[in-house]
Amino acid sequence: MSTRQVLLVNPARYLKDTYIFPPLHLLYIAQSIRRTGHEAEIVDIPYLINTQPEKFNLQDDSGIDYVLSKDFDILGIGSVVSSYSYCERLVKKVREKRDGLPIIIGGSLGLPVKELWEKHAPVDYICESDGELVIEQFMKCYPHNKEALRNIPGLHYLNEDGKYVGNKPELPMSLDYIPFLTYEEVDLEYYVENQRRWIKNVLCSGNYQFREDERFLPLLMSRGCVYECTFCFHFNRLHRKHSPKYIADYIEFMMHKYGATAFQIMDDLILINKKWLHEVCDEIIKRGIKVSFFSSGGKPNIVDKEILEKMKVAGFRRISYGIESGSQTMLDIMKKKTKVQDNYKAVSLMKEVGMPCTVNIVFGMTGETKKTMNETKDFLVSLDLTSKEYYAALATPYPGSPLFQHVLDKGIVEDTREYLFNLGGYADYKYNLTDMPRRKFLNKVIDLAYQVDRAYYKKRNQCRKILSITLEKYIKMIYHAIVPPDTRGRIKLKARLSDLIKGIFGMK
Ligand code: SF4
Repeated sequence: MSTRQVLLVNPARYLKDTYIFPPLHLLYIAQSIRRTGHEAEIVDIPYLINTQPEKFNLQDDSGIDYVLSKDFDILGIGSVVSSYSYCERLVKKVREKRDGLPIIIGGSLGLPVKELWEKHAPVDYICESDGELVIEQFMKCYPHNKEALRNIPGLHYLNEDGKYVGNKPELPMSLDYIPFLTYEEVDLEYYVENQRRWIKNVLCSGNYQFREDERFLPLLMSRGCVYECTFCFHFNRLHRKHSPKYIADYIEFMMHKYGATAFQIMDDLILINKKWLHEVCDEIIKRGIKVSFFSSGGKPNIVDKEILEKMKVAGFRRISYGIESGSQTMLDIMKKKTKVQDNYKAVSLMKEVGMPCTVNIVFGMTGETKKTMNETKDFLVSLDLTSKEYYAALATPYPGSPLFQHVLDKGIVEDTREYLFNLGGYADYKYNLTDMPRRKFLNKVIDLAYQVDRAYYKKRNQCRKILSITLEKYIKMIYHAIVPPDTRGRIKLKARLSDLIKGIFGMK
């Protein structure tokens, strides 16, 4: 058997991609490839752009030329659909320079937009769902056993008519077949430091004493989600898990090999199966493992005091909830399958248990009105939160999600490719889904944060703080009206003005 070299590319998603985690998906795939006796190398484009800005950027083909300077027999690209425009450019250039070289893509970049690939830059294969199993079988069959290749579960290939056809993936419910990750091939210290900084900055107020020497690594305890929120994309509606023993072994392995002291849990939804989570916490407590966990994805209607208390003992320091809205109308539109009261109870319980939490809110879905936004404001005020304790995202339809189908059906988006080329960053809100004028809606988001803060400080008689946030609100509105989103990160005007205001009011 001749050894093949597979190059795995993590493309950038936006103009200024600040993704700070190691490319976990490609690390898993690289391990699978090596298990078959072949070689794999990873190129992480966001890492190159962030660490060598003088050499790499997204406006030109510097990252693509770097990919082409490598020696490889197969190209793999794994990412989310927002990287489509970059990847189409990459695929076209690889075709131009290295015609005949097989290209395989995976993640939401692939199947949800397969028609675009068929029409504009046909890649040879698209991988559906878990790439590890697919690539392992692929490497065993490629290139000689064409028949076997076509029968690989989860692999879609281009047929004679230029259409992708393939088989449903096999999805083991236990994920314990996946070997532990190793990080030797990436610049681990870069990711450890970036995660540390990010966690520190996003930590809401609470009782957690942030340790400056904390070493963060990502941790995947499960994959998938059984819910169908309209703005979210999933390949399937399954929640597949590692066993408590595997998770505890993995944590100990990361502690000893890489000095990990804290983990950012990357699961789509962790609080979904309470029995399993109890067992995971029990195993961690039983072994006396002392690390911190920061976790996204708690389903509010599943939470109770008992599980939160156990999670706290096991080392959980913060959980974020996908609350999304304080309006029942909006929760129903989003198919959240939760009630406003459940959400209220879940956040209140966190306060009772003494664990900080972040409340994720999505503004600007279809059906959003001034009334529903006011309901969300009332909800946040009733919880006595500040704007630092909730994260406001603006609704963005991604191909593959029911929300995207809706914008296609309504004619809000007519051309998916053009849409993806103009998508921009998460704060752009290029497509207004509400019935309000766009600027009015965006100002309402800013005003809502102000109202929430104002209520908080009023309750505490902090008049100077109220004056400061009032001035800040108007500056923010003007700033957002005149400075385009792409420029905001570069000039940092808002942060400077905010510092100035704090200085004037003696808040520094
Ligand atoms: S938003 Fe969260 S709960 Fe809803 S489908 Fe996505 S992962 Fe599941």
